[in-house]
Amino acid sequence: MSKEIFSIAIDGPAGAGKSTIAKLLAKRLGVIYVDTGAMYRAMALYMLRKGVDLSDAAAVSATCVSADITIAFEEGVQQVILNGENVSGLIRTEEVSAAASKTSVNPDVRAKLVELQKKLAGEKSLVMDGRDIGTVVLPKAEVKIYLSASSAVRAKRRYDELIAKGEECDLAAIEAEIIERDERDMKREISPLKQAEDAILVDSSDMSIEEVEEKLLSIVKEKGLG
Ligand code: C5P
Repeated sequence: MSKEIFSIAIDGPAGAGKSTIAKLLAKRLGVIYVDTGAMYRAMALYMLRKGVDLSDAAAVSATCVSADITIAFEEGVQQVILNGENVSGLIRTEEVSAAASKTSVNPDVRAKLVELQKKLAGEKSLVMDGRDIGTVVLPKAEVKIYLSASSAVRAKRRYDELIAKGEECDLAAIEAEIIERDERDMKREISPLKQAEDAILVDSSDMSIEEVEEKLLSIVKEKGLG
């Protein structure tokens, strides 16, 4: 039996393939895909533009009040809008990645973005990915997946992506950055990255994208969705 509105939560560390898989799954199920990392990235971009010291919690809290972050869809692809400007093309740099993981420790930033995420899930069926979706944002999600992979595999995937884009990069430096970001995400006080008790662990280290997609689809079907 198919439910009217359902949510699928996918959490996991940086570079585990969450967004690739979540996008594919959403397409197969005919629902929207919401990338919550993009919201934290847009918030981080705002902080960088304002020159806020990210270790100054009071300054981050005060500044986030004036950041209006929303999402829109263009031909099914999520766009993130910061105070009316589509910043989707500006948030994928290493600088913004690092700033997002620092900004996201702030409780006021999280409260603001979690509210938006909950609202979206109340309106439509979706696949949502992030770090705290199954634990905090959508604790009642019909399906919860924790998608992981070794840091070496995640770094190699990122490295291949950057090389394909013609960017110069260093594999060891990428792995170090990934490990540092995971540590910060897992050790923060509020909503740390962790597997929800009722989430299904999928380790994608030795799996192709197609294999992960099929695995997740079978989990979704077992729950009677899709
Ligand atoms: O997933 P992505 O790499 O785009 O996320 C960027 C950063 O945003 C993460 O390192 C994490 O600190 C933060 N984030 C979060 N909670 C989420 C999604 C992302 O704290 N639900």
